Amino acid sequence: MTSARLLIVGPQGSGKGTQGARISETFGIPEVSTGDVFRANIKEQTELGRQVKAIIDAGDLVPDELTGAVVRDRINQPDAANGFLLDGYPRNAAQVADLDRFLDEQNASLDVVIELSVPREISIERIALRAQEQGRSDDTEEVIAHRLSIYERETAPILDIYRDRGIVAVIDGVGNLDEVEERINAALAERGIERVAAV
Ligand code: AMP
Repeated sequence: MTSARLLIVGPQGSGKGTQGARISETFGIPEVSTGDVFRANIKEQTELGRQVKAIIDAGDLVPDELTGAVVRDRINQPDAANGFLLDGYPRNAAQVADLDRFLDEQNASLDVVIELSVPREISIERIALRAQEQGRSDDTEEVIAHRLSIYERETAPILDIYRDRGIVAVIDGVGNLDEVEERINAALAERGIERVAAV
């Protein structure tokens, strides 16, 4: 089986959650979404959930140590041995360094970073739609603007680190879900990441 250690990066509203779920299914690898892990913990009122709730509601970043511990645990699970799709982590340069360390411990590294590119107006439109549909507590207008500014200031620059390593595939995220999915699959195929055979 081919290994596929993937990361999807894009602003809020780029559709990375939806595309991430599709990639995970197509390639038979678990999706590791730090946002989903935090939301599940908040819902279940765990200790972690209590620690992160106010931070997430404000649209700020959860401390790197806490987030890193979640990811390290998850990617060390047996189902992630041959690959995973990271969504929402790393989100700043320090987290890139942490992830490098976690992967070094497994003698592994990221294979491809998928950059989902969408103009700001479109991501704002899509988040507004999601706010109506899902009622996420961090999808208010003010918090969205704050999260987007953190994305632009802290997260977008990590793409340059990965670009220097030659592993970034830039995908046009404008279009319907199937079109964008096809673009991602084509870019992955070009880099030798194969789909699992249908059963
Ligand atoms: P997301 O669903 O990826 O937009 O994440 C929702 C919220 O979870 C973010 O606004 C942050 O508060 C928190 N979060 C998710 N991933 C991270 C991360 N890698 N580092 C810090 N905070 C994170």
